[in-house]
Amino acid sequence: MAKRACARVPIAQGVFERVHRTDLTWLAGGVLRSPWYWAVPPYFCRMPKPAWHQARFVEAQPLSPNTQTFVFEVTDVEAFDFLPGQFVKVEMPIHEDPAKCSRSYSIASRPDGSNRIEFAIVRLEGGAGTAWLFDQAKPGDAVRISDPMGRMVLPNAEERGPIAEDLVFIATGTGVGPFRSMLLDLKAHPRLHRDMHLVFGCRTQEHMLYADEFRQLERELDGFHYHPTLSRQAVEGLEQGYVHPVYERLVQGRHGGEDLRFFICGWGDMINEARRNLKGMGYNRKQIHLESYD
Ligand SMILES: Cc1cc2nc3c(=O)[nH]c(=O)nc-3n(C[C@H](O)[C@H](O)[C@H](O)COP(=O)(O)OP(=O)(O)OC[C@H]3O[C@@H](n4cnc5c(N)ncnc54)[C@H](O)[C@@H]3O)c2cc1C
Repeated sequence: MAKRACARVPIAQGVFERVHRTDLTWLAGGVLRSPWYWAVPPYFCRMPKPAWHQARFVEAQPLSPNTQTFVFEVTDVEAFDFLPGQFVKVEMPIHEDPAKCSRSYSIASRPDGSNRIEFAIVRLEGGAGTAWLFDQAKPGDAVRISDPMGRMVLPNAEERGPIAEDLVFIATGTGVGPFRSMLLDLKAHPRLHRDMHLVFGCRTQEHMLYADEFRQLERELDGFHYHPTLSRQAVEGLEQGYVHPVYERLVQGRHGGEDLRFFICGWGDMINEARRNLKGMGYNRKQIHLESYD
C-alpha cells in the first residue's frame, strides 16, 4: 500500500504552535492569566519533534521581481497529503547546527494525490534560507520536509464538507499561497459554499502573484471575487492602497454577523491591524483564522 504523509494536526503540536507564535498580546492577555497555563507541566508545551520526510528540489519559476515558486518532491511517500492552508518546515543545508536549518513555508498547490508540493517564496535580503533557495538550490538537491502543520484551514476541511459562511481571505505578498491552495482544491472538488472574496495586497502590478489564475477562478468558481489592491501604483480598474479599507467595505453593514469568516495570512503588521479592525467591527476569535509569517 502507498505510504501517505498525514495531514492531521496532533493536539500537542497545536498547543505548541499557539504558544510559540509571535502573538505576545494573546499570550499576555489570555494564557498567562489562566491557571491552566501554570498548572500544565512544561513538557506538554514542548514541540513534538516533527516527522521528517526525504525530499528533493525540483524547479523554481519567477512569479514577480522578488518572488518565485519552488517545487519540491517528497521522495519517501507516493502521495503527500495535507489540508489546503497548511504549511511545512523545509530543512535546508544552510547551517552547521541542524536546529538552525529549517524554515516554514505555506503550501501554495492543492493536494492532488502526488508527492509534489509548491511554495511561493519571497527573497528576504540577508536571509539564509531564501539565499539558498534563490541562489544555490539545484534540481535534485536533497532537503527534508516535515509533516504538514497549521490550523488555518477551511470549515469541514478534512471531509470537504459544505461551507456555511461567507469567506473573506485577506493576504499580502506570499501570504496568498495558502488561499491559492484552498481555491484550487475547491475548484477540483466542488462543495457547497457561499460567497468568497480574496483581498490581495501588494506594491505594484508586477507583484500580483498568480493574478491570471485568480482571474480565471473568478470565472470558474461561483461566488468567488478577486480584489487586488496596489499600495504603490495607480492602475485603472484596480483598488489602490492597503488591504484594510477593501475588506472593511466588503463587509460593511454586516455588523459582526455570525455568517462570515475571515482568513488572514502574511506578515505580522498587516495581520495585527486586520485582526484589531475586525474585532472592533464585532467579529469574534472563532471567526478570524490567522497564519503569521513572522
Ligand atoms: C507558518 C509560516 C509560514 C510561512 N510561509 C511562507 C511562505 O509561504 N512564503 C514565504 O516567502 N515565507 C513564508 N514564511 C517565512 C519563512 O519561514 C522565512 O521566515 C523567510 O523565508 C525568511 O527566511 P530566511 O532564512 O531567508 O531569513 P532568516 O535568515 O531567517 O532571516 C530573517 C530576517 O532576519 C534578518 N537577519 C538574519 N540574520 C540577521 C542578523 N544576524 N542580524 C540582523 N538581521 C538578520 C534577515 O535579513 C531577514 O530579513 C512563513 C513563516 C511561517 C511562520
